[in-house]
Amino acid sequence: MNINWFPGHMKKTKELVKKNLKLVDVVFELLDARIPLSSKNPDIDVLVGNKPRIVVLNKQDLSSDEANKQWIKYYEKKGIKAVLVDAAKGKGTEKIISITKDMIKNKMERLKEKGIKNKPIRAMIVGVPNVGKSTLINSLAGSKSAKTGNRPGVTKGKQWIKLRGNLELLDTPGILWPKFEDEKVGLNLAFTGAIKDEIIDVETLALRLVEKLQEIAPLPLKERYSVEVEDRKPIDVLDDIALKRGCIIKGGEIDYTRVARLILDEFRNGKIGSITLEYPDNI
Ligand code: GDP
Repeated sequence: MNINWFPGHMKKTKELVKKNLKLVDVVFELLDARIPLSSKNPDIDVLVGNKPRIVVLNKQDLSSDEANKQWIKYYEKKGIKAVLVDAAKGKGTEKIISITKDMIKNKMERLKEKGIKNKPIRAMIVGVPNVGKSTLINSLAGSKSAKTGNRPGVTKGKQWIKLRGNLELLDTPGILWPKFEDEKVGLNLAFTGAIKDEIIDVETLALRLVEKLQEIAPLPLKERYSVEVEDRKPIDVLDDIALKRGCIIKGGEIDYTRVARLILDEFRNGKIGSITLEYPDNI
């Protein structure tokens, strides 16, 4: 699979994230709940260091409830705070704020003892493209949000959004790139829409998705398209889906581009089901 990324651009954004991380008390590491492994940036642990961090598993509406439970347990066991969120509907965002306040409590107490009262808690969202960073920022900010200006002591040009509970959020999220050299990771990112379709072959991608769904979610696939999926070649299943959905060009030939787009769109929008592609035991 041929995926074109731009290493120069990646290096620059990583440095920017590193710089901005110095300004915050807590980091919200945003992952796609359908692919918590593939949507994780491998450098993030080193970048964040000892800074308090909350793992935010976003798009929980598109992932399987059973998998969501398993992931929360997985992080609990590792002593990492993790929250399930649907940023598009604003679900779970309150919890992010309450956990943050709890995590920073001791630091705030110490500041209070030194006579520094009500210092805002500063947070930043980091994550791979398309994971929902902007959506989460909007959701956390809500309608009552107010941007704070360039006050003294604040790096010039930085915009902080006031949230509830004395929290301030950096309005520019940290964009980090996933590790896509691994073909599986690349495919998972492409299936979920984190990689733009223009840079990969959409027909091959759809075929690989059908193959994957035959393996991990045969029933939802069968029910969505009324096709037989068991013990069949992915291409035959794809052909049947095309016929069922009228993805045919003149002369009765299958329109592979159309059926590929259809399947990918429907998977990404959760129409085939709430399907998680990676479980903790895949590690
Ligand atoms: P960013 O590139 O990380 O800033 O991602 P965006 O905030 O632009 O979101 C990418 C896409 O995912 C948009 O179409 C959002 O509407 C969608 N999105 C974000 N969060 C959720 C969610 O929790 N559930 C669903 N279904 N879609 C979401």
